[in-house]
Amino acid sequence: MVDDDVCPCGSGGTYSACCGYFHSGLAIAETAEQLMRSRYAAYVKQEVGYLKATLWPPYQKSFNEIGTLLRAKDSRWLGLEIIGTYKGQSTDKEGSVEFVARSVVNGVADEQREQSLFKKKAGRWFYVRAVIR
Ligand SMILES: [Zn+2]
Repeated sequence: MVDDDVCPCGSGGTYSACCGYFHSGLAIAETAEQLMRSRYAAYVKQEVGYLKATLWPPYQKSFNEIGTLLRAKDSRWLGLEIIGTYKGQSTDKEGSVEFVARSVVNGVADEQREQSLFKKKAGRWFYVRAVIR
């Protein structure tokens, strides 16, 4: 699958040379920020299976695939802004990424600001949950 659109994650690269690698399983995210970006791109591309696969394993059972897909379909994604990262490098086991994701949901502008916690297990990064501050 070749997709020469600009990757929704904001890296500036094409989708097929960026998050498309992660979504198709050809590569795994090396840093928490990379996983964060690829998960945002997965919402845009409606790659719900990827969203589930990159969710912290104990939470995957209760992941709502249909609800997530419907929400992704109802949204027009405007962009991702990374505010900051804490740890989450390739040598870390844990890290967090603060971001703002902008979208229009059913015609209403929506801005999701979150600090997400990521953990690594068996060499892979997973999204755990939002950090409550
Ligand atoms: Zn990307």
